[in-house]
Amino acid sequence: MQRIENSQVKDKKVLVRTDFDVPLDANGKILNDTKIRAALSTLELLLGRGAAVIVASHTGTPEAGAQHRFSLAPAAAHLQELLGRSVELIADPFKSKDKINGIQNGQIVMLENLLFHKGEEKNDKDFVKKLSELADLYVNDAFGASRFSYASIVGVPALIPAFAGMALNKEIDSVQSFLSGQAKPVVLVLGGIGLEKKLKFIKKLMPSKGTVLIGGGLSYTFLKGRALPVGNSLVEASLEVEAFQTIEKAELAETEFILPIDHVVADEFSKNAKSKIVGHNGIPDHWTALDIGPKTIAKYEKILKNAGSIFWHGPMGVVEFPRFARGTEEIAKIIGRSKARSIVTGEDCVSVLQHLELVDKVSHTSASSAAVLDMMQGIPLPGVLALGK
Ligand code: ADP
Ligand code: MG
Repeated sequence: MQRIENSQVKDKKVLVRTDFDVPLDANGKILNDTKIRAALSTLELLLGRGAAVIVASHTGTPEAGAQHRFSLAPAAAHLQELLGRSVELIADPFKSKDKINGIQNGQIVMLENLLFHKGEEKNDKDFVKKLSELADLYVNDAFGASRFSYASIVGVPALIPAFAGMALNKEIDSVQSFLSGQAKPVVLVLGGIGLEKKLKFIKKLMPSKGTVLIGGGLSYTFLKGRALPVGNSLVEASLEVEAFQTIEKAELAETEFILPIDHVVADEFSKNAKSKIVGHNGIPDHWTALDIGPKTIAKYEKILKNAGSIFWHGPMGVVEFPRFARGTEEIAKIIGRSKARSIVTGEDCVSVLQHLELVDKVSHTSASSAAVLDMMQGIPLPGVLALGK
């Protein structure tokens, strides 16, 4: 892969594919801007070296055709604020040829959501050609979106000189160095939801003589599989057997596989629910576990303290409800204090680290958990392959 920081960009028009698929609240406010901040290094480098920059991204999953709730307007406004220079959002670059031609060196514009064009998702030949004609050079700085064989991810780099951006490189380098020089023991901390994907990951990366710590919504399918009472807690019934087998498999691999030993349970799934702490035998009927308990935190701390490498993905509880965010916050602090090489991925965990000002205390944070998980399992990212030629 050719790196953008080693290339001549002065007087060039550069199409930069970023991943601005950021979470928004109901009012269009950005809830986590990690992915936008990640692109600043490359954008500032290009602008500083006298390139004219066209930023392109997608967000959400709109059917082709403009839809207000999938507009990149919030991302463009935020980028403008972070860069301290004007970032005009261009609704349709193919209808605004003059505007695109007129971008000056040191100027930056942003294209509206590429998925508004049906050619993006389909990697349509004509769309790829039209996109690549907008610029002299192409940069992929969209790690999270590199999982998708979209026109702007795999098509354009085949037609014009293509480079890896600095955020993309940082993500790839961090995961690779985590996997290569892995200091032992390795501890995987997995929480959140979506057991199916995470079971695949655990099976593939089961750290021999290391430890898997489970928390969050993943816990209760495992506990149920061990015949423990889980009340109304989240259970993915179709995965119970596989979850049970995964624990058995861990034992054979000499991997310690640890489940929460106490819980914060609530009488309903709401931020103001009545709550109490119960031991591992005791999630009562009609109660729902929304966080790990203090004994679990203490047990996980002992293990994390001695870790050589830590990988963390997924919150330990329902972090959206502040009263049930404690487990996740405590784990964040413990990992922050640890000297181990650490990767933290997923928007929830990264938000907690940001909130506690601990981002600098871990080796690498990534908002793009799906791409990190793919890479760690050895699943190639199409966007990275497309730069390799
Ligand atoms: P991320 O979004 O950070 O990549 P995940 O998608 O894996 O991580 O999981 C995040 C979600 O898991 C959050 O919305 C959180 O509310 C949910 N979650 C965590 N613990 C529980 C639990 N005990 N019960 C239900 N949902 C939970
Ligand atoms: Mg999620």
